[in-house]
Amino acid sequence: MKPDRMAMTLCESCDDAIVCPMDPILYSAVPLDRAHHLRRDDKAIDTLVRRPDRLLVPLWRDLSLVTPEGAVMPDGDLAARLLDLAGVTVFLGLWAGRPVFAADLSEAQPEPDGTPPRLGPDGAWTALKAVGGTLPADHAAILAYGRALVLWHRRARFCGICGAPTQSREGGHMRQCQDGTCAAPHYPRTDPAVIMRVDGTDETGQPAILMHRQKIWSPGMWSVLAGFVEPGETLEEAVAREVREESGIEVAAVRYHSGQPWPFPSSLMLGFSATAIGGTLAPDPDELEDAQWFSKARIAAEFSDAHRTDGSGRPFLPRPDAIARRLVDDWLRR
Ligand SMILES: [Zn+2]
Repeated sequence: MKPDRMAMTLCESCDDAIVCPMDPILYSAVPLDRAHHLRRDDKAIDTLVRRPDRLLVPLWRDLSLVTPEGAVMPDGDLAARLLDLAGVTVFLGLWAGRPVFAADLSEAQPEPDGTPPRLGPDGAWTALKAVGGTLPADHAAILAYGRALVLWHRRARFCGICGAPTQSREGGHMRQCQDGTCAAPHYPRTDPAVIMRVDGTDETGQPAILMHRQKIWSPGMWSVLAGFVEPGETLEEAVAREVREESGIEVAAVRYHSGQPWPFPSSLMLGFSATAIGGTLAPDPDELEDAQWFSKARIAAEFSDAHRTDGSGRPFLPRPDAIARRLVDDWLRR
């Protein structure tokens, strides 16, 4: 990497020479007033969804509708036609006073040639994960928020307690079991996952961070460790357990850094730093392809500036809009 990519920068809000945890990250900072008070007001939601100026955030199966300029959010008659096709609609909130609804259009059939349906609006049905970082940040955040809720509805159609069908309530922010005796409410789920930069030293005693590779990743990509939080443990315990299980390293001084919504389908990434205090580096071959310590000098000398393979065979770091990269950059700039 070029040295200027590792240069120290001062955060404007906290005046520290780090990557500020308060800076918005991709898929965060949804620019809507979530208008929580309107969700339980069926009449108000019904009025909002009929307003000609309401904006629709369509999702077809796993795909969002985008153009090179940003997300496609139809209003007016076009939105009304799409709402007629929608399986589920979710009130996302108000954007400068305009109601915004996510709509699941998955029941629309593909074109005869197998391509996604052409339903009227411009744009291409695209995987958000592939284009999120290229969209305006507010559009990416709205698509992520809407997508998370629509995908939850698809997975929550039946009550997990009694098996009866559920129905959408509260503007799409709750589903209620339709069995009269059970009537259990079900709420959108968010799965906490920890992702952690482990600070230690390499074999020469230089300060270094632990990064790993997985077989399913693009050749050359290295990143920090991560894993899901399990029942019965704190976030700090989850960090220590995942690092121990995957690498053999023991950690202490587990500190929260910042988070990132990750709606693929429903994770919340919780970023931490931790300090290695013992153990022996022994990557779990079932989980990791490799794990190594990387000093700043090694990253500067060996890593490509690109965040994907550049054909040179050089290793590279995760893309700049991912929490993994934020954790690494925070260390590189110290
Ligand atoms: Zn039930």
